[in-house]
Amino acid sequence: MRYLEDAVTLEFIPERCDGCGMCVKVCPHAVFGMENKRAALADRGACMECGACAKNCEREAIRVKAGVGCATAVLAGLMAGKEPSCGCSGESSTCG
Ligand code: SF4
Ligand code: SF4
Repeated sequence: MRYLEDAVTLEFIPERCDGCGMCVKVCPHAVFGMENKRAALADRGACMECGACAKNCEREAIRVKAGVGCATAVLAGLMAGKEPSCGCSGESSTCG
């Protein structure tokens, strides 16, 4: 599942980034990549707004309105006793 690129609330402020790489590590959808020792948006449209990147960025270089995508899908799946429908398949413990 992909969101419309323009509808994704993900915001990245490159000036604040120190290149720690956490966002690349925790994103379950490979939205971030590294470029010239800084994070860069590699695939913004794949963002499911789980909030993991923003939560793990100590430089506050990422803002995202979490809770409307992946995390919500996981929670809804748990409550309904079904598999989440966000595409994460529960493989990543960073989701949500
Ligand atoms: S977690 Fe934040 S500081 Fe670290 S690479 Fe990503 S955007 Fe940059
Ligand atoms: S909000 Fe989640 S899916 Fe979107 S870029 Fe951050 S970690 Fe990746």
